[in-house]
Amino acid sequence: MKHDYHIHTYFSGDSETHPEDTIKQAISLGLKTICFTDHHDIDYPEEPNPFTLDAERYFKELLPLKNKYSEQIDIRIGVELGIQPDISHKLNEFSNAYPFDFIIGSTHVVEHTDPYYTEVWGDEVNHSRIIEAYLTETIESINNFNNFDVMGHLDYIIRYCPSKDKHPEILDLYTLYPELLDKILITLIENGKGIELNTGGLKNNLPNPNPHPRLLSRYRELGGEIITCGSDGHKPEHIAYSFNTVPELLQSCGFKYMTIFKNRKPEWIKL
Ligand SMILES: [Zn+2]
Ligand SMILES: [Zn+2]
Repeated sequence: MKHDYHIHTYFSGDSETHPEDTIKQAISLGLKTICFTDHHDIDYPEEPNPFTLDAERYFKELLPLKNKYSEQIDIRIGVELGIQPDISHKLNEFSNAYPFDFIIGSTHVVEHTDPYYTEVWGDEVNHSRIIEAYLTETIESINNFNNFDVMGHLDYIIRYCPSKDKHPEILDLYTLYPELLDKILITLIENGKGIELNTGGLKNNLPNPNPHPRLLSRYRELGGEIITCGSDGHKPEHIAYSFNTVPELLQSCGFKYMTIFKNRKPEWIKL
């Protein structure tokens, strides 16, 4: 698997990585294509917002690097947009304003709070309500906003659910919320959107990548074909994390091809 389509650098508030270090690491791993996808989370619930992308500087810095290394690796420039139900207009404006190769739409906040923080979850009785709110808000977001290419780490919410060790059935989210998840998958497919296989879940001590293989299979079963693959690496050593397991996993979920993007158009790679 030679294509990492989810990578963060110091343009994201949660990374200190110089993009050139990422590029050197990707070349040393023999990758063919990488796509930078730094965070842009409009209305993230913190002031000042650590996830505002300075897109002018981003392109100004990445384009010369893309050219400098063009003989060794094909570098593409994307973004990971934090989606929320009530910001579709601003999201659309941003997507249209810059020449991105690829846009990931990801739900990172629920009810205007960040589930990364344990205190957001409250008592255990509250956990299923938060998960349901996360899925419901995702449905609203993708009903309102269409200007992205794949949905990022579909079951991201389970990474941070404090009761997942006690109740490991939560990891297999589809068995608990089939209607909500089918709604998400069907909307994505009807709108021509993909999902991603995000190996970052494995780095976060989950037994599987995000989303769970059952969701990958379900997307395929419902007719979905567009699947990108990304490490969600925030450090050079995370690039292509656990990518050796990807082709077999995708094949076992019914995929024959994976997808990369250039100028927002899909390109197909045989598995
Ligand atoms: Zn994300
Ligand atoms: Zn990310």
